[in-house]
Amino acid sequence: MASYFEEHNCEPGEPAERARENVLLELARTLFNGQQIDLGSVDFTDWDQRLPPPAARRAVLSLPTVRVTPDQADKGLKCPVCLLEFEEDEGARKMPCEHLFHSGCILPWLGKTNSCPLCRHELPTDDQEYEEYKKDKVRRQQREHRLEYLHGAMYT
Ligand SMILES: [Zn+2]
Ligand SMILES: [Zn+2]
Repeated sequence: MASYFEEHNCEPGEPAERARENVLLELARTLFNGQQIDLGSVDFTDWDQRLPPPAARRAVLSLPTVRVTPDQADKGLKCPVCLLEFEEDEGARKMPCEHLFHSGCILPWLGKTNSCPLCRHELPTDDQEYEEYKKDKVRRQQREHRLEYLHGAMYT
């Protein structure tokens, strides 16, 4: 007999991941438009944390500025925040995840929180407490994986 999940073709977690990305992008765009972002109005109920603290200054300063190549411009590469297409040879800020943004679009955002609005790749922060929390989370996940593995080994 096929399991419930197979029959209904559920992919747990996936749509939620996408919704989460959109929340960040929406926030980044709101900020770009010069509006204050009211984090109290955002539904973070499926997050196990509040919005992370700002990116560390040195991490932001060390983001490389790259020139947009003719190829990228031809393909209509856009800045995810303002949705304007990059011009050939225009300078863009490159995040460690390889996503490109205008400086004016990404810098105010990184002054609020440390992650790429497109993929949530995190930059380091200056916040000791948050860095500890992050390490802790990794440890917790490793522990959960071990438990799942043990569970799987016992019941299959
Ligand atoms: Zn932009
Ligand atoms: Zn990214």
